[in-house]
Amino acid sequence: MQEADLRPSSREELRAPAGANAAALGALAVLACAFLFASYCIARALVGGFGSGLGTIALCASATAAASIFLWWLVPFADFAEIFWVHLPADRRARAAQCPHCGYPHESRATCTECGRSTEPLPAWALGARPVRRLAAVLVPALVVGCVAGEAWCRLDESRFVVEARGAAGPYTRARAFPTGFARMSCDEDGALHSEAWPDFDRDRSWQSGDESRRPRGIGWKAEADEREAAEKAQRAP
Ligand SMILES: [Zn+2]
Repeated sequence: MQEADLRPSSREELRAPAGANAAALGALAVLACAFLFASYCIARALVGGFGSGLGTIALCASATAAASIFLWWLVPFADFAEIFWVHLPADRRARAAQCPHCGYPHESRATCTECGRSTEPLPAWALGARPVRRLAAVLVPALVVGCVAGEAWCRLDESRFVVEARGAAGPYTRARAFPTGFARMSCDEDGALHSEAWPDFDRDRSWQSGDESRRPRGIGWKAEADEREAAEKAQRAP
């Protein structure tokens, strides 16, 4: 009879302070938003093309949703506050023969003489529905935030590029903004805008001259490099 009365109170004990949970879930939310933002930007750079229509946005958002699979292994961290505030102290007290609730020595009594609750050790933490629900409640909004922020960031970068390309006389090219520096945007002579991931990958290897001025850049680099090479060859020839 008394045991039945004690159960609900020990269930209540299995909750960490609300602030601790908010901090743990907030940290997870920040991590998830950053990861999903980067995933969206990378998807956008890999898809290529300049600007985005609904099709591109849908494709990149699906790729980002697929990338969120990598965040699901963090599911025990959704219960971090409970593990840290409830299960670890209870475990320490159980090993020291103390009441799991108040820490008073129980001297093998079933009921604590200090707080009147059961001295039975608390159940160990187990993966259940609660951490999964909590992580889902973090990941779904984070997916929306990541995609919206990623799209806004890519558009901002592209509109900045358009302004720069207009200001530059002739063709213009530069890398996309962080975190997608591997992709390049370019504006050719007739003002057509392109963006591609890993353009001319070989060039990036052959480029690395110690002399900064000898590193060819931009559109027409290959023709210039060939010309220079031919000129050097002609010079060397007797
Ligand atoms: Zn007690």
